[in-house]
Amino acid sequence: MLFSVVADAFEKMENTTKRLELTDLLVNLLKTADDDLPLLVYLVQGKLGPDYLGLETQMSDKLILKALSTASNISEEEIEKEYTKLGDIGSLAREMAERRSMSTLMKVELTVKYIHDSLMKMARSSGSGSTKSRIDAYMDLFLNSTPKEIMYITRIITGKLRVGISDATILDAIIKAFSDEKYAEDIENAYNFHPDLGYIASELRNGNSQNIIGLGPTPMIPFKVMLAERLRSVEEILEKMGGRCAFEYKYDGMRTQTHIEKGNVRLFSRGNEETTNQFPDIRKAALETFKVDSAILDGEAVPYDPDTGELYPFQAISHRRGRKHDVDKVSSEIPITVFLFDIVYLNGKDLSKTPYSQRRSILESLFKENDNFRLAKRIESGDQAEVHRFFNQAIEDGCEGLVAKSLSQDSVYKAGARGWLWIKLKRDYQAQLWDTLDLTVVGAFYGHGRRKGTYGALLLATYNDKNDTFETVCKLGSGFSDDVLFSLPKKFEKYVSKEKPARVVSNLEPDVWFCPEVVMEVIGAEITVSPVHTCAYGEIEKDSGLSVRFPRFTGKWREDKKPEDSTTSREILEMYKEQKKTLTEEKS
Ligand code: ATP
Repeated sequence: MLFSVVADAFEKMENTTKRLELTDLLVNLLKTADDDLPLLVYLVQGKLGPDYLGLETQMSDKLILKALSTASNISEEEIEKEYTKLGDIGSLAREMAERRSMSTLMKVELTVKYIHDSLMKMARSSGSGSTKSRIDAYMDLFLNSTPKEIMYITRIITGKLRVGISDATILDAIIKAFSDEKYAEDIENAYNFHPDLGYIASELRNGNSQNIIGLGPTPMIPFKVMLAERLRSVEEILEKMGGRCAFEYKYDGMRTQTHIEKGNVRLFSRGNEETTNQFPDIRKAALETFKVDSAILDGEAVPYDPDTGELYPFQAISHRRGRKHDVDKVSSEIPITVFLFDIVYLNGKDLSKTPYSQRRSILESLFKENDNFRLAKRIESGDQAEVHRFFNQAIEDGCEGLVAKSLSQDSVYKAGARGWLWIKLKRDYQAQLWDTLDLTVVGAFYGHGRRKGTYGALLLATYNDKNDTFETVCKLGSGFSDDVLFSLPKKFEKYVSKEKPARVVSNLEPDVWFCPEVVMEVIGAEITVSPVHTCAYGEIEKDSGLSVRFPRFTGKWREDKKPEDSTTSREILEMYKEQKKTLTEEKS
């Protein structure tokens, strides 16, 4: 398949904000692909493969500037000036290609496969001479593409393809193009257990839908984890759960999937990033602890004090991120326990449809607890007083609260879904909202006075999972330490967008727009109706949305969350209704 067809489609996609139109464009594009369909899907995602493979071209903007300078014979300084003016690396490459001499053009036929191969070369190059080979691979693409093509190629290479297509929209288009919509739910479920859109598209297109429908967890392939709904009291939870359920400690650590197969172990984060190298101690302990052929376990990794056994807060674990060389040292200083709370696969058998209490029994009989692997503490109860005591004990033991789990026969493991089979109950934030929110940063306003030179406030948004858009919900200016505050422009530099990003819905015009990428944890006082913000617009009052009052940054950047994992507009709407209900009850 020629890449020019893809570039033309990208151009059309950029010019629409309507999800249906976008999906139709994508359906047509997918249908024109040949054997390179999976590669096309990855390029449309702006990636080289499924997230869990962690493939990156390792090309920074700086290297692209260098390559453009060499290819076009223009000094790096001049190119940098142009870049500052244009503000987008793709447009810069396009402009440089327009200036290029025609005689150097088009020696090879630029297909999707050719481009994907070049990008993989960049991703795989390592050691001395690797920078040069990456630059060479880019220059080859530059010299063989049209200005429009190199613009999109450059954006893909630098992870900035901004045509506004999310994975959910791509999956929608794959279903429309190659399957019957009556299987949509099965296919979504398969995707949640095997998040590889290229694989799903090619199996469906090649008539192997039996491989996709009913697809459950697979060892060594991370799945999208199951999530919990929220309620604010034990009473409400018991009512929702039919009078009795299980309650487990809600550990404040890092969600960790442990995959074991034939003597190998791989660990994955909530966002399906592989973390095996960060936790060599856990990897080793998993092999010693579980005498199985294969298993997939779900749990929370929590750092603890080896002297007192006390649990440390989540942040202590972030020391291990990105410190490849120091990991051994850090793992002995800050040991980790994985508190296991679920099992979805054992010795070749899919357990995801087995009811929760049976899964828990299997998990309990599977291993002997040790320093690295424990069971999440738990009770089964229908007695409010007993649950309150257990909740207080959880807080005292350094946890965030409890997760209630349904004991019903249909309590399956629902990958990628936030549902009522699990309900979280967090510590009361007194006069504040009873749960933190995870919001996506979509813009910023310049600071004045003491905040001159940095941002005075960030514009935050919720995710509308129905429309696949980001809707503004508040401006946030408090909760920052000075260090964080003054590093904001640098932190957000690479997300700056010249125009409002396609999927952002806003009535406000911030000084700077950001592509929706960064998620931060926020606590607020309450949710109010707002004529300014677009979250849940028109749901409570005509011409109004909802906003978070007195939002404050908790200090936690949710690096484990993608923007699509942010608190949804629907959740804010539910919280607003819940808050109103409580206020009415208090008054009466
Ligand atoms: P939060 O910001 O409250 O952690 P979240 O959006 O990350 O929420 P939720 O589904 O709302 O995820 O809360 C469940 C999270 O709590 C899980 O993702 C998991 O990391 C953590 N957790 C800790 N202990 C448990 C447990 N026993 N069962 C399930 N999840 C647990």
